[in-house]
Amino acid sequence: MEKDSSLNQALIKENNKRKIIRALWENSPVSRTGLAHITQLNKATITNLINEIIAEGMVTNVGQQKSSAGRASNLIMFNENYGICGGVVIRHSVITVAISNIFAKILWEKDFLYPQDDDPMHVLQHVAELLREGIAACSNVSSRLLGIGISTASLLRQPDDMMYAIHSSLKWYNVPIGEYFRQQFNVPLWVDTASNNSMLGEKYFGIAKDFSNAIFLSIGLGIGAGILVNGHLYRGANGFAGDIGHFVIDPDGPVCRCGKRGCWEILGSALTLPPEVTLEDAVREAENGNAKYISMLNNIGKNLGRGIANLVRVLNPECVILGGDIVIAGKWVMNPCRIELKTSLWPFVWDCTRVEFAGLGNQSSIIGCFTHVIKQLFCLDNYQ
Ligand SMILES: [Zn+2]
Repeated sequence: MEKDSSLNQALIKENNKRKIIRALWENSPVSRTGLAHITQLNKATITNLINEIIAEGMVTNVGQQKSSAGRASNLIMFNENYGICGGVVIRHSVITVAISNIFAKILWEKDFLYPQDDDPMHVLQHVAELLREGIAACSNVSSRLLGIGISTASLLRQPDDMMYAIHSSLKWYNVPIGEYFRQQFNVPLWVDTASNNSMLGEKYFGIAKDFSNAIFLSIGLGIGAGILVNGHLYRGANGFAGDIGHFVIDPDGPVCRCGKRGCWEILGSALTLPPEVTLEDAVREAENGNAKYISMLNNIGKNLGRGIANLVRVLNPECVILGGDIVIAGKWVMNPCRIELKTSLWPFVWDCTRVEFAGLGNQSSIIGCFTHVIKQLFCLDNYQ
């Protein structure tokens, strides 16, 4: 019995501490009295637990606030130098490695190009070296690495983080990416698809803060989706949900790299442009009034709208977020996309569906990597 009761007390204490940390995240800077009011915990409990959290170096005093009665109270908030987070975004030819503080502010960042036929484990070894370089470069902020988030441009089998880049030009198959980095760094580590991480980044730091049901579309040379259902990422039974680039929207359309005809991504992403034309080229030409490129970009928007209409019918999201490289295409893609949706959907469905570009621009994915670490640190797992 006694053992049970001390176990219960430890659990209650841990739970109260999580409550305070979360309240600090949502309300900083805040006084101890303010925290007692928000958490409904008594002042003695708040004082004890805050002292513990201060001793861990997690929060710091940031000045005073005067109450209406003229009494001054100390304000506290998280110490931004408490620790650092690692982030890695693996794309088809370039990998971004970055380090952030505990508010997802990027402190250090490096891109490196790699040959697509290089041995995947050799590439990962280089990523690990760069992470170490970044960690060392940020030692003036903190040398406490709190965790690492990784984005993959591929399918990812969960829960063992096995990476499959089968439809892309990158021939990585069955790469044990999670296992490799866990062995290398021995810190909490999350591997997820670039689209899932982007959705997470937008939920915590971008345009989706107030949404519980949203879809992030990562659109560049292909299309992937991160799906938020009731405030949580939807991954499906094995982690393969969101591989939507290969659903067919035109059975007589052009041949896709997966071998089928008329996949959504061959019609609704930068893959529809001639191979020698980049999205940047097309946007620049469109801005100069070149009708051929305006029409190409409009077509991408229209085809995006077709696919999004189907997703909206299935998932009824509050918002569909267009992210990744496509964010530079602006009105040339967004206007025809919205027109297509407006004509495809029931008016009362269209009226309550927003379509927006990513709030974090093309950084949703890297910010999403840090978000995994920050979520755990601030006990935000059930954050809605
Ligand atoms: Zn395909």
